[in-house]
Amino acid sequence: MVNMGNGPVRTDKPKNIILLIGDGMGLTQISAGMYANGNSLNLEKMPVTGLMTTYSYNKLITDSAAGATAFACGCKTRNGALGMTADKKPCRTILEQAQSFNMACGLVATCSVTHATPAAFVAHVQERADKEAIATYFVEKPLDLFIGGGLQFFENRKLDQRNIRRELEGKGCLIYDYRDKKLSEVPFDPAHPVAWFSAMDEPDHILNGRDYLPLAARIAPDFLKKRANGKGFFMMLEGSQIDWACHANDGKRAIAEMLDFDAAIGEILRFAERDGETLVVVTADHETGGMAIEQGSNLDSLALDFTSTYHSASMIPVFAYGPGSKSFSGIYDNTDIYKKMIAALQW
Ligand code: MG
Ligand code: ZN
Repeated sequence: MVNMGNGPVRTDKPKNIILLIGDGMGLTQISAGMYANGNSLNLEKMPVTGLMTTYSYNKLITDSAAGATAFACGCKTRNGALGMTADKKPCRTILEQAQSFNMACGLVATCSVTHATPAAFVAHVQERADKEAIATYFVEKPLDLFIGGGLQFFENRKLDQRNIRRELEGKGCLIYDYRDKKLSEVPFDPAHPVAWFSAMDEPDHILNGRDYLPLAARIAPDFLKKRANGKGFFMMLEGSQIDWACHANDGKRAIAEMLDFDAAIGEILRFAERDGETLVVVTADHETGGMAIEQGSNLDSLALDFTSTYHSASMIPVFAYGPGSKSFSGIYDNTDIYKKMIAALQW
């Protein structure tokens, strides 16, 4: 295990925040990924750990929309709602607050960018399924960077005749997509906001060849730091499909998604160690599948089982590194993730 406590951390106030969300990543998903990976994860390098409750306003078992809204806005909301309070009013997100301070902002996901977790940071809708409505929020105050699927909700809309991609390009954003460029071929010119669409709808799962998350994790912080021009940045990166693999009760795929997310964590920690002014927080919105590592397992072959095809209500681990990380130890609520980030930034 590598101790990262000796990095160039100078103060307790971070300039940048990188929030990493492994959707559906409970302790068993982490444990299974670690055992399957030679008993090792990048996650182990993070010095501060905590636990949090994840229930939503109206359900003990949250969905990803209410879970991400707790992180983005610090409030409990109803399952299905994004960036809305429990009484159905829009609530300001940490990303929108960062934009108001002229910080650079970015979202990276292995789902569509209009899917619940990334959408909670930019959109204000009562119903997570309204993906075309969610896409319109991306053009109101364009992000400096976004990477993920969902191109159809920008280009081929049924709701209206708008082409959100063209509107973003009209605002100076450089938009690329999987049809003409791999992520590795995209020129990241910090003079412009940049987006890369990885799929028309949802990206492939990891065992079907999707491979861009660790590369996106390597590119995004350096790009956002340049875009921020000294003002700091906020970034959310999601390993979106740990959840989907566990809904499908597919342990092999869940481990592969977990290790893809952990590779992204490794890239982010390398940046944060070099940078010294970045608070990194890794957590999950909820556990999925009621996953268990059962009798008969050993390090070389895990016997995995599931008790559910939906989410569970077990507490979720939180990991933190960098300036402001100390406050993330202990047991608290998912809405406290927002409050602790805001307190660290001294807003
Ligand atoms: Mg998600
Ligand atoms: Zn789910």
